[in-house]
Amino acid sequence: MHLHVADHPLVAHKLTVLRDEHTPSATFRQLVDELVTLLAYEATRHVRTEPKEIRTPVTTTTGVRLSDPSPIVIPILRAGLGMLEGMTRLLPTAEVGFLGLQRDEETYEAITYANRLPDDLSDRQVFLLDPMLATGGTLVAAIDYVLDRGARDVTAVCLLAAPEGVKVLQDALGDRVDVQLVVAAVDERLDENKYIVPGLGDAGDRLYGVV
Ligand code: URA
Repeated sequence: MHLHVADHPLVAHKLTVLRDEHTPSATFRQLVDELVTLLAYEATRHVRTEPKEIRTPVTTTTGVRLSDPSPIVIPILRAGLGMLEGMTRLLPTAEVGFLGLQRDEETYEAITYANRLPDDLSDRQVFLLDPMLATGGTLVAAIDYVLDRGARDVTAVCLLAAPEGVKVLQDALGDRVDVQLVVAAVDERLDENKYIVPGLGDAGDRLYGVV
């Protein structure tokens, strides 16, 4: 698995405002959107393209177009939904699937409660969206799920990761070259409740309120 940590002053600045407990929900949503668009630029570096002939007003030339089948973007519900718009802004032709995974608050294991995805993901490039890589259980389950259905490669896009979660992914995926993880920052650690420290709190609650 390849890990890419976005090292950019704009990412660091926006992340700092996002972490601030006084940042209201509306600003939080806007910042998540902007951050994901910046991360999407890195995450799509290996998106497949093919040559395309065009005519400019001056001459003919060969450019590129995104190859078929189109990539598929999968937000992991609920908090991953807040990342969808930022990702599809850069990949407007992508298809969108949905995966509902939540962690059992006692065992911290991932439970699937919703799935709206094609059974066959053969040859598809998959982008999984999940803002917080904490224990890694949810993301490993989601990556296994799409690889089992034939995905060509998987890129997980997260805002924050805990070192513990990154290690769980690395241990589970080893040196697979078809999986990459793109994050805005790797934080210090998990606390006793498996929250990322310093983190930003509960991403779903900060995006959508406590329901
Ligand atoms: N999920 C969150 O929303 N925040 C954390 O810190 C960890 C998991």
